[in-house]
Parts: sequence; C-alpha cells; structure tokens
Amino acid sequence: MFVTRFAPSPTGPLHLGHAYSALLAHDMAQAAGGRFHLRIDDLDQARARPEWEAQIYRDLAWLGLDWPHPVLHQSARLPRYRAVLGTLWDMGLLYTCSCTRADIRAAVSAPQEGAPLHGPDGVIYPGTCRPAAKPSGPMPGDVALRLDIERACATLTSPLTFREKNDTITPRNLPETIGDVVLARRDMGASYHLAVVLDDADQNITHVIRGKDLQDATQIHILLQRLLGLPTPAYHHHRLIRDETGKRLAKRDDARAIATYRADGAIPQDVRALVGL
Ligand code: GLU
Repeated sequence: MFVTRFAPSPTGPLHLGHAYSALLAHDMAQAAGGRFHLRIDDLDQARARPEWEAQIYRDLAWLGLDWPHPVLHQSARLPRYRAVLGTLWDMGLLYTCSCTRADIRAAVSAPQEGAPLHGPDGVIYPGTCRPAAKPSGPMPGDVALRLDIERACATLTSPLTFREKNDTITPRNLPETIGDVVLARRDMGASYHLAVVLDDADQNITHVIRGKDLQDATQIHILLQRLLGLPTPAYHHHRLIRDETGKRLAKRDDARAIATYRADGAIPQDVRALVGL
C-alpha cells in the first residue's frame, strides 16, 4: 500500500510551496489508492505555535485534503527519539559537541582551511569535538550529540542506495559531503534528521514526497535507516515553487500564504493552477 505524508512545522503560515507539496502527495496517494498522513513537525517548541497549527488544518481542509486522525506530533515523541539516540550512543556512533555556531565559523575560516564546504545543515562540521576513541559510559543528557559519520559509514557492509522516481541513487563520500550532523540538539533533545526518520518508519511511510531543498538531507536519512535497521522509502523530491524573481518562497512570505489567497476570494482550483497542478 502506498503511504505518504506532509509534515509541516507550525512556525508560520503555509504558502504556495507547501500547497504544492501537500496537494502533490495527496494526489499521488489518491491515484495509487493509498493513504496520505498529515504530521506536525513541532519538535522546535520554542518556535511552534498552536495558532499556526490551527491554520495548517484550516488551509489544508480548504484545499480539499483529508487525513487520518489523530495527527502525529513530534513533540509527543521525545522518549522514542531519546531511546534511539541511546542505541546509537551504545553503538559508539555519537559524540557530544559543545561548539557554538561562532566556534564552527572560526574553525573553518582559519587561513589554512581554504573555502568552507557546505552540506545539508550549512558549513560542514570541522570535527573539533570528535573524539579519537569511541566515547564510553552512559549517554549524557542536555548536550548536543553528533553522528560520527566516518565511523557510521565504516559499519556498512554494502553501498547505501535509494529510489528517486525511476532511478536508483547511490550516495558516496558522505564524510566529505555531509559531515558529522547533529542528531540531538541541546535545546530540543533530538534533531529533525533523527525525528523524521523515526516518524516515517513508525508511520510505515512508503513514499516520501517533499521539495528538492531536502534532497541532500535524504542521504543522512537513508544512512540512519540503515544503521537502525529501518526500511528505506522511495523518495520524490519535487521542484520548488519560486517567486517572480526566482527566489524560493519562505515562511515569512505572507503575500503568498494560502490564507491570503483564500481571504482575497480565490478558490482551491486557483491555487492548484498557480502551482502548476
Ligand atoms: N518539517 C519539515 C519541513 O517543513 C518536513 C520535511 C520533510 O518532509 O521531511 O521542511
């Protein structure tokens, strides 16, 4: 059975880019006789707001979408995320990191370092806190934890691959292109990468449909799936909706908020037409 999802963060209004993603996933599920889930990515409790969540429900229902209830909230799943972090810690694949963004910027801009390389989360971590030996003892709480990607890749016995539309993709050189990503943020207890992998697995998602902006992050996700023995869904990274200057739409782009079109008297068909559906 084809199962997909749309997983917005309730940190601002949904705009045309979100409408495209949600409609595409919903249409594909319907065409395949499958299921479409809505999930609320509210791990970042400092930025999530109930009023944005309420507006997500209103906007999507107005667009004609429906989804099973209850809706899964990441904020309710911290114990699950922490338990899996414990597993990765016991496998010797995590280490604690106390670097601030400024520390990382300073380390990568040292004159001998050359131009900083960028991965899915920005500048690739230069490894300042990475220990030479596997950390031992119990996993500490209330600290940032990074994945030792080199050590993680060394445990693989066959190449990582995933299906993207009709192609099979084999990511390579993850230590150089991704680096040691954060899996637990100090303030949030887990990071997006870990949460999304566990949510997709626990909801039996077979097809992940989301924007091309997340294509690089998918390599982290399939690595985590392999380390944790979870199935890898098929991926479809769709084109991004841009404004007339070619810039990708952002959350604060109120002018293109679905709610603004609705208030201006548009009908859902107008929004479909605007995003090319
Ligand atoms: N909350 C994430 C976002 O809006 C979800 C990404 C995903 O679909 O995995 O970017």
